[in-house]
Amino acid sequence: MMLSFKGGCKEIGRSAILIDRQVYFDYGLKTGDNIQFPYDDIKPRAALITHAHLDHCGAVPSLVSVQPEIFMTPPTFSLLNLLAEDTLKIAEQMGRYIPFDYRDLDMLRNDAILVDYDTEFNILDYKTFFLNAGHIPGSSSIYFEDEKNSKSIFYTGDINTANTRLINPASDFPSADTLILESTYFDEEHPSRKETERKFIESVQETLDIGGNVIIPAFAIGRTQELVMLLDAYNIHPFIDGMGIRAFDLLKEHPNYLRNLTHLKRAFRNSTFVDSKKRHKVPLENSVIVTTSGMLNGGPVMYYIDKLHKDPKTKLILTGHQVAGTNGHMLLESGNIINKGKMQKINNVIEQFDFSAHCGDNELKSMVKHFCDNGTENIFVVHGENTDEFAAWIKNETGVSSFAPANGENYVI
Ligand SMILES: [Zn+2]
Repeated sequence: MMLSFKGGCKEIGRSAILIDRQVYFDYGLKTGDNIQFPYDDIKPRAALITHAHLDHCGAVPSLVSVQPEIFMTPPTFSLLNLLAEDTLKIAEQMGRYIPFDYRDLDMLRNDAILVDYDTEFNILDYKTFFLNAGHIPGSSSIYFEDEKNSKSIFYTGDINTANTRLINPASDFPSADTLILESTYFDEEHPSRKETERKFIESVQETLDIGGNVIIPAFAIGRTQELVMLLDAYNIHPFIDGMGIRAFDLLKEHPNYLRNLTHLKRAFRNSTFVDSKKRHKVPLENSVIVTTSGMLNGGPVMYYIDKLHKDPKTKLILTGHQVAGTNGHMLLESGNIINKGKMQKINNVIEQFDFSAHCGDNELKSMVKHFCDNGTENIFVVHGENTDEFAAWIKNETGVSSFAPANGENYVI
């Protein structure tokens, strides 16, 4: 089999791996000032999409013109549509080029093939299935087997083996000859979710007790729903503003992909949804506001920060990794952000909690050992900043051939 790495190597963004010049695993884009797409000159016969984050699925609608078969789970399909519409809307507003339009999105809606976890199907001469990856609702890893040559691949996608309130952890792994592994948190440990939750709730409560507001920027898919469930478990009922509400509306249609739909629904019912036209009516007194975007790059959170940035009693709680180049990263580095084109000094209390949806260092290394113990012969490390170091660690520790491919490279296995 030939593996062609078209994006998401030695970087996070535009994940795309092509198998035998015929089948894509993921087809993402890399956001930023200049949106980047996979290195591509291929007309694939099929694509398997692991999950609804832009770096894994953001460029999928651009594939429809060559009419491949495109497979994904039902929640990934619902959420991908939401993200693609948002991408087109932002591109229009900013005058940016995107290699697809609303017509392509309509075609994708007609042509996408939806498959549940653990349901085996065939593509050309390959046998494949999706497995729960525990990262966001509907997120998958891919098992892929070339039946003629008896060679198999396991691609993790983005993966989390720890339990969260919203979804179950990743499924047990099948054995495979080749492992393609994400490595976002190589060399970085996460604190336990329980401990993070306890400190987060204490922090929110402490601010409410002194009459302050709490602004919680959160990613729309997964993080918003998890945090609203967590707050509800402690009888804290927030305002929710932004795309997290639409993501909830879509997710509740997929109860099998959630741990506890009843609690999710109750938590959202107990919250107050903010209509964008009535945002100015949200009382900015002793309120908790869960809103997008998670890295402070636009979205309704900018309105709340604009209103409250001078208030030392207001707390701003970041709930995810802040990528370099984002306002969230700048805030942590300098205490400033750029809001509506102006530099704004933030006088709020700033905190950050690690609600990561990825495996930490420990879990990644256990996974590698598990695969090696079960006969894996090749490991490709992707989706991370330190893939060379991780590949070297694997080789050293296990003796198994391991590689940190670069974008544009091909490997025959
Ligand atoms: Zn992801």
